Amino acid sequence: MLRSLFQGLLLSSGALAASPDFQALFAPSLSPGVEIASSSDANFKQVASPRWSVWHAPTFEAAIKPKTEEDVQNIVKIAGQNNISFLATLNGHSSNLLYSNLQNALNINLANFNSVTVDPVTNRMTVGGGVTFGNISDPLAEAGKEMQTGNAVCVGLVGATIGGGIGTLQGLRGLVLDALESVRMVTAAGEIVTASNKENPELFWAIRGAGANFGIIVSATYSVYDWTNQGRVTLANFGFHPSANRSVWELLKSYDDYIPQKLALIPSITYNRTINETNIGFGLVYYGTQREAQPYLDQLAALNPATSTVQNITTAEMHEIFSRGACDAGYRRNVFTIGLRKTDPTTYERTLSDLTEFYETYPDYSGSFAIQRYSNEAMLQVPDESTSYPWRDIGAYMLFDNDYTDPALDDIVENFSRGIRSRFEAVSGFKEPQVYLNYDHGDEPLTQTFGASKLPKLRALKKQWDPLYRFGYANPIY
Ligand SMILES: Cc1cc2nc3c(=O)[nH]c(=O)nc-3n(C[C@H](O)[C@H](O)[C@H](O)COP(=O)(O)OP(=O)(O)OC[C@H]3O[C@@H](n4cnc5c(N)ncnc54)[C@H](O)[C@@H]3O)c2cc1C
Repeated sequence: MLRSLFQGLLLSSGALAASPDFQALFAPSLSPGVEIASSSDANFKQVASPRWSVWHAPTFEAAIKPKTEEDVQNIVKIAGQNNISFLATLNGHSSNLLYSNLQNALNINLANFNSVTVDPVTNRMTVGGGVTFGNISDPLAEAGKEMQTGNAVCVGLVGATIGGGIGTLQGLRGLVLDALESVRMVTAAGEIVTASNKENPELFWAIRGAGANFGIIVSATYSVYDWTNQGRVTLANFGFHPSANRSVWELLKSYDDYIPQKLALIPSITYNRTINETNIGFGLVYYGTQREAQPYLDQLAALNPATSTVQNITTAEMHEIFSRGACDAGYRRNVFTIGLRKTDPTTYERTLSDLTEFYETYPDYSGSFAIQRYSNEAMLQVPDESTSYPWRDIGAYMLFDNDYTDPALDDIVENFSRGIRSRFEAVSGFKEPQVYLNYDHGDEPLTQTFGASKLPKLRALKKQWDPLYRFGYANPIY
């Protein structure tokens, strides 16, 4: 509530008073051919970034698709001088309650910043601020390299990095932000700065965990690594009848204290509307051969799954599989999350039962519940104080992904989801709730998303780099 009020106040002073002529205001200061469109223009949808969810979406009066760093600098300067609120986005995956406070703003579409260069000798990759996880697969594979990424191809690499970046390779390589070496960034003053451990190190600290609050990253350099198992993984998917409920969660619990670095487990609950039945899925990824993965596969096979598939495929193929449905844009979607250290099978059993009733009561609803259990061994090797990211001890991420079309369900879904989240909060194994920023809902206190220990320094840096709150609409640091 406090966040919402605060943001409302900020925007009431920053939102557009009267509609400016965006073309006349910006075009003279931008590279030839930079696309600018007002929301009433026929090409607006081509110029503005797409948006994953229509739920609590921001609205834009105009959009600009800059081509160069200087374009971004000039847009930020001119928007600031004219009190125009703006939001730089790529594919608009971030869903958050507070985005709907941003109305009639200017969208800065980063899609033209799409370059990817891999240097196999220095083990570095430099990308534009508008590349997706999917965009880096081929260049890395061609160089025989890998880097930790999120699971879906459509998500922005930089957008995810600046809030953490979790995924199946995390056990071996750490968070995506742990691979970040430096960025070039346009600040609120419209200056271009480099941030790294050597240049502007405090800003670099802040970017790695709270980056959306500090500027627009136009390019980023990451460490890359020789690939694991020639870039191939064992991917298995098991489907269980709801009667397997308890045994599946007991198996997940057996991994509470230890999970091998090469292993990732993703159990889920979904509903099959063709046969009207809840389904428990259990995804398993192993960065090695099927033979190496066999002991873990056997554990799942022993629980009598109704279906099972095991494939040995490239990581790019795996990410395409993970992206099916998940990347579909334009629906009413939002997420709830909580970080976990422990598994309480009774809580999962209750959740399956309550979700089944919810699916049956609301035919329009097709959300999913998932747990992402990754090893945090590699991320714990990075000293906590070296980045602003606060939650290196989360072992599993609850991701409750709501998906429906009828706005009349908004409050019902909201209340139901909050109940599920509180339930998992109570058995998380942590004293205070720990919320993974990139999956946040927007109603969590800042101590849960940024961490109480990181907030004082983040606040001081926010005052220094963005005193007028040009950035960070979804998660303003105040
Ligand atoms: C289908 C789906 C799958 C996902 N899978 C994963 C996953 O596996 N792992 C994971 O960690 N997260 C995952 N996420 C969450 C994702 O990391 C966040 O939603 C992230 O914010 C998305 O970044 P984006 O650039 O795609 O989205 P946008 O909404 O375009 O951007 C998100 C935020 O980052 C800012 N931003 C984007 N680019 C830049 C830039 N270049 N410089 C400065 N600020 C920028 C934007 O202003 C905005 O505030 C997933 C989300 C979805 C919808």
